[in-house]
Amino acid sequence: MTALDFDIVVIGAGPAGGAAAFTAARAGLRVALIDRKTFPREKLCGGLITGRARRHYAEVFGHEMLFEAQDRKTTVDFRFRGAPMGVIRDAPALCATMRWDMDAMICAQALEAGAADFTGISVDAIDLADRSLTLKDGRRIGFGVLIGADGANSQVAKALFGEAFDRAEVGFGLEIEAVGDHVKPGAPIRIDLAAAKWGYGWSFPKRCSTTIGVGGLLARNPDMKDAMAEYCALLGVEADRSSFKGQFLPFGDFRKVPGRQAILLAGDAAGLVDPITGEGIGYALQSGHLAAEAAIEALRAARPERALALYRRRLRPVHRALRMARLIRPVIFLPAMEAGFARAFRHSSTLRLQYLRLMAGEVEYGDILARLILRLPRLAVLAIRARF
Ligand SMILES: Cc1cc2nc3c(=O)[nH]c(=O)nc-3n(C[C@H](O)[C@H](O)[C@H](O)COP(=O)(O)OP(=O)(O)OC[C@H]3O[C@@H](n4cnc5c(N)ncnc54)[C@H](O)[C@@H]3O)c2cc1C
Repeated sequence: MTALDFDIVVIGAGPAGGAAAFTAARAGLRVALIDRKTFPREKLCGGLITGRARRHYAEVFGHEMLFEAQDRKTTVDFRFRGAPMGVIRDAPALCATMRWDMDAMICAQALEAGAADFTGISVDAIDLADRSLTLKDGRRIGFGVLIGADGANSQVAKALFGEAFDRAEVGFGLEIEAVGDHVKPGAPIRIDLAAAKWGYGWSFPKRCSTTIGVGGLLARNPDMKDAMAEYCALLGVEADRSSFKGQFLPFGDFRKVPGRQAILLAGDAAGLVDPITGEGIGYALQSGHLAAEAAIEALRAARPERALALYRRRLRPVHRALRMARLIRPVIFLPAMEAGFARAFRHSSTLRLQYLRLMAGEVEYGDILARLILRLPRLAVLAIRARF
């Protein structure tokens, strides 16, 4: 083994890569953590941390994620086309973070645990057969297992499958950070259904800005900038279109086979984003951790090529949840159903609470699906009434 051979190489030091590198380094393996950026770095994201994500964070790092009291939000204002759908107070807490800070904190923990620091360096080429990669500065790194945690545009996924995602299925989000009069840290979280097609709009008040965005399926929103401009106008925010920042997000189109043999994909690179809420941080932490556990087990058995099979087994509950969410998604976003769903949501505090309990990780999509099946006849009637 040379100085640049590692048991596990992780590409991407976001939540998925940070969790993977931390888990493997803590287990005593030789780990390299590569990211083309140095931290802290910008990452386009609402930065809303659910109870589910906090639970995964605690499982990986062994302590609760720390938040300032004013970052904890327990009031959520739901809207449909701007009209009130109900305000929930005393909701399970959602935490409004800036990814700039959170990701730097996660990456630092992975490095402190012993991962070798290759941040600020890009990968030039990956040789899958030779289990090695070459950095832009010419250095060659060998690995037993490679974990691609390099986000929605994953270079590792491209090396394995030719493309990082399917344009017909991928989601896209636009955001701005509104400042000045729009800094209202005490304001509720606001979710606007139908602000984008097969998606929604959001306003997340933070200490120094309010993160405002729209997101949904790219194929259904060729005019996403128009949707964003309309949403800003609805919120009374003056924003130039040139200030809108955009980013792909896998929106329920997860990779059924997230890797090949000793190469694993985690987080956005594996398409692990909730197809209804767009939440990905929790799944990134969870899958990074599971990928590292699978890699460790395979390496300890001297069978690195078994890593994918071990990882797929661990990922089954995640894939099951995402499949359920995809089944439910049309009830919320299908144009023929969305007004009916909005009415049902407005009139049912139980439905609103279930949605928030889901984000808190207190219920699963299976529970929601069972309730929705019972409500479907009524939803269909509401949908028909809403159209005429
Ligand atoms: C507009 C928008 C809003 C969102 N809001 C929320 C939200 O409020 N809550 C939530 O839970 N989720 C949200 N998400 C989803 C969430 O941002 C992602 O699911 C999450 O960041 C995935 O984490 P990750 O570690 O897989 O990837 P990332 O966080 O994208 O990290 C990938 C890392 O890989 C690095 N990298 C990329 N390519 C290379 C390369 N070739 N070589 C080296 N390094 C590389 C990048 O620099 C980056 O640091 C949102 C997404 C979007 C687009």
